[in-house]
Amino acid sequence: MQEIEGFIAGFKRFQENWLGSDKTLFDSLRQGQNPKAILIGCSDSRVDPAILADCAPGDLFVVRNVANLVPPCEPDAGHHGVSAALEYAVCHLQVEHIIVMGHSQCGGIRGLMDGVCECGEHSFIANWVGIAQKAKERVLQEFADKPVEMQVHACERAAILLSLENLMTFPWIRERVEDGRLALHGWYFDLQAGTLSGVCPVNGTFETLA
Ligand SMILES: [Zn+2]
Repeated sequence: MQEIEGFIAGFKRFQENWLGSDKTLFDSLRQGQNPKAILIGCSDSRVDPAILADCAPGDLFVVRNVANLVPPCEPDAGHHGVSAALEYAVCHLQVEHIIVMGHSQCGGIRGLMDGVCECGEHSFIANWVGIAQKAKERVLQEFADKPVEMQVHACERAAILLSLENLMTFPWIRERVEDGRLALHGWYFDLQAGTLSGVCPVNGTFETLA
């Protein structure tokens, strides 16, 4: 219960900070949201995008899932949560940027690389992280004789590139990227180094941003 009390105390501080004497921002947010970016991040407790980017409420439309993956466009009757969030942000909120943010020591990517599946027949993780199977295969080919740790780090980055490729399979994203209304970004947060790097659109390598 201590944790829950801590969270409620945290909400009280949020009330004081954002809904107290100066509530200008929330008066505006009550009318609606107008974020300029959607970020797909990992559910990992250490990589909260709004905290990392020091955002205020209303700044960032966020989707978080295991290993920050974007599936390809699959127009079937499945329950496509990430695709629905992308559609809402792109087609309704008209965001100008899509950011896919991965990170080091990602348990989801580690699971993909190790092929470990803990919950037997009722497990969802293996199928989910399988979205990045192609990234795993590319890494195993390119880094065949490298240590496992290096392969995992490479796969964390390769999965970001694959998600960027998958974004382009959504027709309403491709159209906007091609006519310049929308820009795609791949970010990688290195927990060890405390740095952020981004995909260079020219050669696909990661370069330090901060
Ligand atoms: Zn992760």
